[in-house]
Amino acid sequence: MGLENLSENEKLFIGLPFLIIGIFLLGMFLKTKYEKEVEVSKCPICKESYEYAKLVDGLCPKCKIKTIDMNVYYNIKKNKYIQIYENLLKKINK
Ligand SMILES: [Zn+2]
Repeated sequence: MGLENLSENEKLFIGLPFLIIGIFLLGMFLKTKYEKEVEVSKCPICKESYEYAKLVDGLCPKCKIKTIDMNVYYNIKKNKYIQIYENLLKKINK
């Protein structure tokens, strides 16, 4: 059986799963690309954000110190704010 014996609709029907797989693969590709771009690290001194992949050993090109992963950076900040807030509450409650 050759493809030339099939009608246009039948060809389309056979092509459809390949199209879906193609879109799926494209989606996966874009997703990994996006996730790589999201991998940003921040310098604790100059507060500059850098794309981690572009840094040498994760060092800030300006300050030459180790940058912190964006998520870690904001977690530290968040914890600091929580601490400040809790201390403030303690003071108010006194
Ligand atoms: Zn820096």
